[in-house]
Amino acid sequence: MGAITKLLVPNRGEIAVRIARACRESGIISVLGYSEADDTRFVRRFFDESVSLGSGDARDTYLNIAKVIDAARAAGADALHPGYGFLSERAELAAACADANITFVGPRAESIAAMGSKAESRHLMQRLGVPVVPGYDGDDQSLDVLTREAALVGFPLLVKASAGGGGKGMKVVRDASELRAAIESAQREAMKAFGDQRLLLERYIEEPRHVEFQIFGDSQGNVVHLFERDCSIQRRHQKVVEESPAPRYSDELRQRMAEAAIAAARGVSYQNAGTVEFIVTPDNEFYFLEMNTRLQVEHPVTELVTGVDLVRAQLDVAAGKPLPWTQDQLRQRGHAIEVRIYAEDPDDRFLPQSGTIAKYAEPTGPGVRVDAGVTEGSEVGVKFDPMLAKLIAFAESRDAAIDRLARALRDYVILGTRTNISYLRRIVTHPAFREGLVSTRFLIEHEEELRRRMPESVPSIAAALSASGARTPARATNSPQRVTEVWDSLGTWGR
Ligand code: ADP
Repeated sequence: MGAITKLLVPNRGEIAVRIARACRESGIISVLGYSEADDTRFVRRFFDESVSLGSGDARDTYLNIAKVIDAARAAGADALHPGYGFLSERAELAAACADANITFVGPRAESIAAMGSKAESRHLMQRLGVPVVPGYDGDDQSLDVLTREAALVGFPLLVKASAGGGGKGMKVVRDASELRAAIESAQREAMKAFGDQRLLLERYIEEPRHVEFQIFGDSQGNVVHLFERDCSIQRRHQKVVEESPAPRYSDELRQRMAEAAIAAARGVSYQNAGTVEFIVTPDNEFYFLEMNTRLQVEHPVTELVTGVDLVRAQLDVAAGKPLPWTQDQLRQRGHAIEVRIYAEDPDDRFLPQSGTIAKYAEPTGPGVRVDAGVTEGSEVGVKFDPMLAKLIAFAESRDAAIDRLARALRDYVILGTRTNISYLRRIVTHPAFREGLVSTRFLIEHEEELRRRMPESVPSIAAALSASGARTPARATNSPQRVTEVWDSLGTWGR
């Protein structure tokens, strides 16, 4: 620990850009660690230096601890920020940094390890008096015991990989007859994804909301929370829309959750930025789900409602400084909503898309923030995550934030690859979203209404483009799908 002068970011896309910006504002030299299989031309503009992690896919580059540490040494970096995803929640990386005398911008290796297993973190929370979802998290993993425990938990239940993340290894079991197959398939998936097949069983909560608290600790033992984010709108357990404050909740409920989140963070003497996730029943009972020991994708909504810079605070705290704010100084004001822009086709099973971005124009204006990892000319490949950017709207009220977000989505032009932009606009303009009637089943419940409605007739793509003053992309065709997509991204329908 000590002053940071040069920092390696072994990551990609918008989060690499976000961290590089904070480095520049803090006078820290930034170094991008990148895969040669990735189009990093845009991201590199924000960095002072870059160092190759090799030419392979994620496993051989961003996920390879030895290569990442070698890259930090080669660059002469005295600190490393892992971003999110990839190695960000690997205690081994934090430990390897400590061994190499590199400041790891994140929590201590022990905190990452303690929270890395869902079963272990549940035990810890129970000791701290933080409510967990009723279920089984024991060591005995025999089929007999799991079957017996499942009967006690009751159906429907959720089989979860203890080492899980990203919704992998998670199965809903509605009936005892489905249990055995679900256990075996979750074990296989967990083994493949995490090299660890331990499972836990949880009561499956119907129509829940996902509400999480941003917490932050320093090496002096201070811990604060920076309020909540509601991330209930999810597709296959992956967040799509995130907002703060959580709609329709009382201050009293949010305060109780904040206290539980602080207790969880204190319980592991947590340092740096972290998130305590809760699942909330329709009756407003909340249970601890897990703690993410890193910066989250959705951190901008917290930054907008509190007015802080979480990444800069991460750099300061990692360098041994105290938290830049006390709990009393932190206020939540206005409303922020984030949507994740993906290269995917909502009309075709959300399949990831690839291509060259032929035209790219970001929305701007008051209260609009875009954190992007691509620009015009960027190649979108299939080797890495298809998230292109995040769009965040901030306004004085939730209604105004929705209006602003819907407007910004209309203004967002990405041509050359299909995106979910118009799908996101349909979500945020849906009457149920406006009412704040969100749950993790929102996208399934409203699937029909969220589907794209093809118009009776469409003008030609050339007309649409010339009306917008855009150059005709080389790959443009007049297929109805393509015309609809271009027209749609120009914001002319789909409201
Ligand atoms: P992961 O680490 O794979 O992201 P989490 O435990 O954080 O897994 O859960 C991810 C999402 O799965 C939650 O946001 C919620 O939508 C759903 N989920 C998790 N546990 C339950 C549960 N017990 N009942 C209903 N839904 C759940």
